Amino acid sequence: MKILNIEKKSESFKYFVLITIIPILGVIVMFSYAFFHFQQDLDFISHKKRGLKVITEIQKTIFNIQKIRGMVYIKNPNKNSIKNIEIIEEKISKNLVSLKKSLQPIKNGASLKSDLLNFINSVENSSLQHSNFEYLSNIISEFMIFSNRMSYHCELILDSKLSSFILIDNIIYTLPQLIEYNEQIKAAASNAKDKNLTYNQKEYIAVQLNKIKEKLNKLDFNMSLLYKKTQYNELKIYYKKMKEAQNSAISFTKEDLLNREKLSLEHDKNFTLITKNMDLIIGLYNTNLNILNRDLENRLKEIKQLSTYVVIAGLASILFIVYINRFFYSRNRRFINKIQELTITDSMTSLYNRRYFDEVFENNLRIQKRTNQTLIFIILDIDFFKQYNDTYGHQAGDLILKKVAKSLKESLKRAGDMAFRLGGEEFGILSIGMNTSEALLFADNIRKKIENAKIEHKKSIVSDYLTISMGLIIIEPSSINDANEVYKCADEALYRAKENGRNQVVIYDTKSFCRI
Ligand code: GH3
Ligand code: MG
Ligand code: MG
Repeated sequence: MKILNIEKKSESFKYFVLITIIPILGVIVMFSYAFFHFQQDLDFISHKKRGLKVITEIQKTIFNIQKIRGMVYIKNPNKNSIKNIEIIEEKISKNLVSLKKSLQPIKNGASLKSDLLNFINSVENSSLQHSNFEYLSNIISEFMIFSNRMSYHCELILDSKLSSFILIDNIIYTLPQLIEYNEQIKAAASNAKDKNLTYNQKEYIAVQLNKIKEKLNKLDFNMSLLYKKTQYNELKIYYKKMKEAQNSAISFTKEDLLNREKLSLEHDKNFTLITKNMDLIIGLYNTNLNILNRDLENRLKEIKQLSTYVVIAGLASILFIVYINRFFYSRNRRFINKIQELTITDSMTSLYNRRYFDEVFENNLRIQKRTNQTLIFIILDIDFFKQYNDTYGHQAGDLILKKVAKSLKESLKRAGDMAFRLGGEEFGILSIGMNTSEALLFADNIRKKIENAKIEHKKSIVSDYLTISMGLIIIEPSSINDANEVYKCADEALYRAKENGRNQVVIYDTKSFCRI
């Protein structure tokens, strides 16, 4: 039975493992999927941030090149202007160094990176302050193209979040272009100092003006979308200021540059107006940039937090599955054990029942043969029990059965010894490893114990007290070991014990029965 029990236990353990492992695998797959999805988002946004860094470095460089471009127009520059140009050129060199640095972490895009690096090197090697307007304008437009290419490469324009998308659009396209068109007007205006503008120059300025209006419309539209977000207040304030400055710059351009026959320009007025406008657009550009960076940063933080939650939730689910399954497994195990116990015990005496005896008996005979040990089987029966029932009542009889069972249990000392209620007032004992004299002593002690309990039995012919008769068989590994056969022999010995006057142990011998 112990062997059977272990088999059942391992079977239900297998089941436990199965119902635990499968949902755990499910949880792992599900949460890993979510986790990797977040990792992809993380990579996507990090990639964007790296691209944005390059683009802002490019734009910083453009701002400074635009400044130089405005200055190279100045004829007969004074000492101050020359100094200024030198300072700006130095700034540009630094800009280019940080631009190169910002390129390093960009993933893939080898050809874009090498093209841009080559271009940076060529700019580094040329003297900007001695270049002309067209050359500098070309550098600016070339840098703008690189900025565009980078925005595609780093998927900046693919941002699914509307507000980020608009901020990106402002930073990469709308504001840099607006700045460039204003710069072109500023340059033309500077050029026109002290003389009238030619027809071609006026036409050129008018074209730039139209482009500015177009960009302002675009910016208006972008801003109207961003205005829905309350956290963009600083952007609103900047935009309002910038528009005012832009409008005065536009009306100055229209009235003073385009409509007057003769220019009566004060250089400072022109310069201050347009410069103020420029500064405000650059300010707006930086505000856009800061907000976008903040947004991306927050999104990164959110994703990192979410992936931590996913890992925690995943682990918690796994622990929960293990805990709940373990809980039900041990509860079921307890029920199963209880049921198993109930199916093998006799309810009245709590000894093993006949069913279990049949199972164990055959098993023990097999094991005994395999392990080469002696097996002892005792069958015992209460003497004149019918009379006891008749005299003292059935209930008193039941009590006797319990008492005898208790006494049998107490007499079993060795591990592996087992006592059974075989039916009615008949009991069985199985024990392994005793020799003949030990077995006889063991059996007789049980008999004596019952007799010495001095349970009154007036109707017994053999004694004043309740007694038992026992049939004992010692089964050697080499002898017969058919269960029915052995049982019959032990029963035969018991019959002899009854025949010989009860209250005794009779040992079955293949040749003769001996009684003690
Ligand atoms: P012997 O000495 O030859 O064994 O005589 P006996 O009277 O003990 O044997 P017999 O087989 O004639 O009677 C057995 C009796 O045991 C009959 C039955 O009423 C009684 N018995 C069987 N099971 C129970 C039980 O669960 N409770 C009670 N109280 N009596 C039982
Ligand atoms: Mg009987
Ligand atoms: Mg009897």
